[in-house]
Amino acid sequence: MNNDAKNRRVLCRRRFIKELGAASALGGVLNARLLGSDVKPFALAPLPYPYEALEPYINKATMQMHHDRICAVYVNNLNKLVAEHAPYLFRQKVEELLAVELYAIPEEIRDSVRENGGGVLNHTLFFDGMAPEAGGAPVGELAQAIPNTFGSFEKWKERFTAVALKQAGTAGGGWVWLVRDDVGKLEVTSTSNQDSATANMWVPLVALDVCEHAYKLQYHTHVADYVAAFYNVVNWSEANKRFTAHRED
Ligand code: MN
Repeated sequence: MNNDAKNRRVLCRRRFIKELGAASALGGVLNARLLGSDVKPFALAPLPYPYEALEPYINKATMQMHHDRICAVYVNNLNKLVAEHAPYLFRQKVEELLAVELYAIPEEIRDSVRENGGGVLNHTLFFDGMAPEAGGAPVGELAQAIPNTFGSFEKWKERFTAVALKQAGTAGGGWVWLVRDDVGKLEVTSTSNQDSATANMWVPLVALDVCEHAYKLQYHTHVADYVAAFYNVVNWSEANKRFTAHRED
């Protein structure tokens, strides 16, 4: 890569990080902020609704386990890694850590930060992207952008479901995403393990966890039922907010 290309990439990354910070869904809840000279650890963001609010689609026991145990472990692991190896990283937001990893994170903890930081960010996007009495059709600008890109909302659902089932069938599961990609186009894609959509400079709009722990308690091996249920709790208003916050024009 020549210097010009390198500079463009860095600028692009900086702009991306700035835009991410501007997203109301992400700003302020995830990060360890630098308050005066006090450095705070990364915090487990509370659920924006009661544990039982998504029933019958996702039950209370699943939400309690997923938020209080699984997500909390990622937060604790991340804090331990950063405290022991690179406390200056507490000045960053989690989404910044994942976007600047090559520059800022010591190599010996890079993979673990990616895994645990991704775990924190992905789960927060997932939990905040659902709501009771939600689901239905996309709203706002997404109401047009989704059919424009995928043909129809139904076709988008078919695509999202197919990608979800395929990713769920891989070892370790992973995540399914509706993203705005780095040229501004909507796309359905997936990542493995806890890899985050943001690491590819995608702006995540809708996130679905297809790791086994996300559905086994309630749906056992019936992952297709879990994916179908998810459409009843997608918070399209939040997805549209993420979409318009990052629009290029
Ligand atoms: Mn999970």
